[in-house]
Amino acid sequence: MGDQSFNAFELAQKQFDAVAEKLGLDEATREFLRQPMREYYFSIPVKMDDGSTRVFRGSRVQHNDARGPNKGGIRFHPQETDNTVRALSMWMTWKCAVVDIPLGGGKGGVVCDPHHLSQREQENICRGWIRQVWKNLGPLTDVPAPDVMTSSQHMLWMLDEYETLRGEKYPGFITGKPLGMGGSLGRTEATGFGVIYVLREALKTLNLDITKCKASVQGFGNVAQYAIRLFQEYGGTVTCVACWDQADKVAYSYKKEEGIDLEFLLSITNRYGGIDKAKAQAAGYEVLPGNAWIEEEVDILIPAALENQVNAETVGQIKPSVKVLLEAANGPTTLEADAQLKEKNIFVIPDFLTNAGGVTCSYFEQVQCNINFYWSKVEVLHRLEEKMVAAFHAVDQLAKSKEVTMRDAAYMIAIQRVAEACRLRGWV
Ligand code: NAD
Repeated sequence: MGDQSFNAFELAQKQFDAVAEKLGLDEATREFLRQPMREYYFSIPVKMDDGSTRVFRGSRVQHNDARGPNKGGIRFHPQETDNTVRALSMWMTWKCAVVDIPLGGGKGGVVCDPHHLSQREQENICRGWIRQVWKNLGPLTDVPAPDVMTSSQHMLWMLDEYETLRGEKYPGFITGKPLGMGGSLGRTEATGFGVIYVLREALKTLNLDITKCKASVQGFGNVAQYAIRLFQEYGGTVTCVACWDQADKVAYSYKKEEGIDLEFLLSITNRYGGIDKAKAQAAGYEVLPGNAWIEEEVDILIPAALENQVNAETVGQIKPSVKVLLEAANGPTTLEADAQLKEKNIFVIPDFLTNAGGVTCSYFEQVQCNINFYWSKVEVLHRLEEKMVAAFHAVDQLAKSKEVTMRDAAYMIAIQRVAEACRLRGWV
């Protein structure tokens, strides 16, 4: 997705290689973990509303299942590439391991643009995706979930197709389902809230008062919206949000120095996380270019949209006021930028720790489906908070004791757990 020349998988492998070296991992384990275990690519023929047939490219990549069934989202995006999906599947393995849930890593997608597809066409893509790959998925093998531009409705169509093919009910087959149809309370909030539980703990260790902190956010979708909500509840101020404008085909940043009004912006935002520019302007928001969010004079930057956003080109635009980069999106920072962030002494909280709340709650959803008993939202969010807080402090303590970055420490914990599972199984 995004810049076609950016290879997310190369980044994921380089990050892995560097930590494997630090850990002194043996050659076989390195070779095994730097590649996905299985990859599926397939064509999905769909009858369009105008009577024509279009063929969409679908994928599912299973990076590693030593610790449990593969787990990961399905993206609908016009610029989806195989390497993005590979990278995301690998990051899922580390993400599940770092929060210590018994799942492996997977990811999938369909190259398509839902903005230009009817509901019926999207349903057929979902059902077609399942028909191509269902034999390789299941509650005990690989459990999909929503991701960029897919929703609980897409998951339910997929579940329905899977159950039709199997002839039995498998509510634990897929997560992110609607409430009342096997979904978990708290799942919608989980990733964004998880991001802020981690931030709250980080600010404590950095001796920063959250009520005095300003943040600028890229993205105004599911993750960003709930992250902003909880950050504001804790007393923080968000001065800028950036999102994609479907009509103009560019991104814009929306700024309000005294702090954005979340409820108002939500009321003028479409279901893809795009803000109505004219209405925002009329309400006094400054409309700036898409990348202006990163130049904000704030304490915290929260990339919560796409990968490759904090890169060699943009990192120089970060103001000296910035103390924390909270990676809510997957893979937002390139290696070059990472090195510069370290020099600038910015505390980077890595993506697969920061945004692990989503998969943690998906795991809770699976648990509830399997026991056929559903928890209250308070219970779900309480368990989520416990997991995120414990994971943050484990990483923070290792980072301090080994004098490494938070990213390296998170990788060290995750890779060691997965490598150990492979070793115990006798795979390496
Ligand atoms: P979403 O589709 O709900 O929202 C994406 C947002 O990004 C939208 O507001 C969109 O307008 C904006 N955007 C797209 N292109 C942009 C651009 N060029 N510049 C600025 N903004 C742009 O997606 P989401 O679920 O909020 O996911 C956001 C990120 O978080 C992704 O990297 C995703 O992989 C990651 N993530 C999501 C979850 C989850 O549970 N939803 C879990 C873990 C990680």
